[in-house]
Amino acid sequence: MHYYSTNHKSPPISFREAAVTGQPQDKGLYFPSEIPHLSGSFFQDLKSKSKAEIAFEVIRPYIDGEIPDKELFGICEDTVNFDFPLVKISDTVSSLELYHGPTMAFKDVGARFMSRCLGYFSKDSDRHVTILVATSGDTGSAVANGFLGVKNVDVVILYPSGKVSNIQELQLTTLGQNITALEVNGTFDDCQAMVKQAFTDTDLNKKLSLTSANSINIARWLPQQFYYFFALQQWDHKEPPVISVPSGNFGNICAGLVAYKSGLPVDHFIAACNSNDIFPDYLLNGEYKPKPSVATYSNAMDVGDPSNFVRLLGLFDNDISKIRQMVSSCSVNDTTTLDTISRVYHESGYLLEPHGAVAFKALDEYLAQHPGKKGILLETAHPIKFVDVVEKSIGEKIAVPDASRYLLGLKKQSVLIAPEFAKFKEFLLARS
Ligand SMILES: *Cc1c(COP(=O)(O)O)cnc(C)c1O
Repeated sequence: MHYYSTNHKSPPISFREAAVTGQPQDKGLYFPSEIPHLSGSFFQDLKSKSKAEIAFEVIRPYIDGEIPDKELFGICEDTVNFDFPLVKISDTVSSLELYHGPTMAFKDVGARFMSRCLGYFSKDSDRHVTILVATSGDTGSAVANGFLGVKNVDVVILYPSGKVSNIQELQLTTLGQNITALEVNGTFDDCQAMVKQAFTDTDLNKKLSLTSANSINIARWLPQQFYYFFALQQWDHKEPPVISVPSGNFGNICAGLVAYKSGLPVDHFIAACNSNDIFPDYLLNGEYKPKPSVATYSNAMDVGDPSNFVRLLGLFDNDISKIRQMVSSCSVNDTTTLDTISRVYHESGYLLEPHGAVAFKALDEYLAQHPGKKGILLETAHPIKFVDVVEKSIGEKIAVPDASRYLLGLKKQSVLIAPEFAKFKEFLLARS
């Protein structure tokens, strides 16, 4: 197994190198040279396997011996050591809850796996790396949590002041140890621009070994397949499910498509989008037209140029007719998102958050047009992370889950910074 750049101008490299470098110099994305096919007996025995066994068997061919089996199994065990319940909402719709991890969002899976791989690779080196992450809420806390206490690694998170929820902010700012949170007096785009500029700044790169932990990294992307297998493990209908994935940068759905290509029985995928409708537009008109993102309630999907789009093309040989056969898409606006949260809650007692609600609505429409099919939506975050929107929708207060109540007693520790690269650079240099 090797990893090639989707731009084909950088040389193919191993898992280790791809995980450590993140993105090829030619600005493409790394893509595995082959997608392994899992055996018939693997699927026959799926129901009796543990989560760690499934994760290990799924990821092992991609690592290709660069992490010994014993260590890799340990990493898998650690990565998926929480629940992934498939909860029935109605006769035809179930929710795969991906928010039972430490930061209550699905990004925990990729971030935990990636941090442990990098931890393994840097164990015997004395090279100190600094990971820079810009976040609109979920990414920063998942990455920071994953890297907490990892030797030779520092994490610097940039988040937009006043634009993340209270729980998200506490998750970002109360870890301590090797994690530093910078509260940027600006927008998420400012945070992202500052991080991008840091990676190309000569002085900084002379003094510090900077790395990113964004979802482009294969060590974050590929393990996101795991929970699609966990979903099928709990699926008790004869026919394969339609799976609806709330999509922003399309890392999650592309991981699901990789699982499908490995043999996982899935009837159809839905890329559920909010008003950032670049992909639904593409399927409709055959033209990919990136646009500036617009702000919505499901802000982790406010993306105007999905970074994994080229991987999606790669999975279907750049053939839009093949994509259309397997993937549908739909755009759901904020008003419908609010209505959906409220309707589902009052009809079935199930509480969705905005990203899951977008996925629910897209699935609901698809099933209405395809009677007889049944489906799963991925609920990618806990409702408490988007408490304002959820409470506004249902008109009731919701309780902070026991597992995160401790956060409310912690003191936020952040460094306030202007949205200027010069200030950020000064801060980083002072630490080097
Ligand atoms: C990141 C995120 C998404 C979007 O996932 P992509 O892999 O970028 O498509 C959806 N929901 C939540 C809650 C997220 O944090």
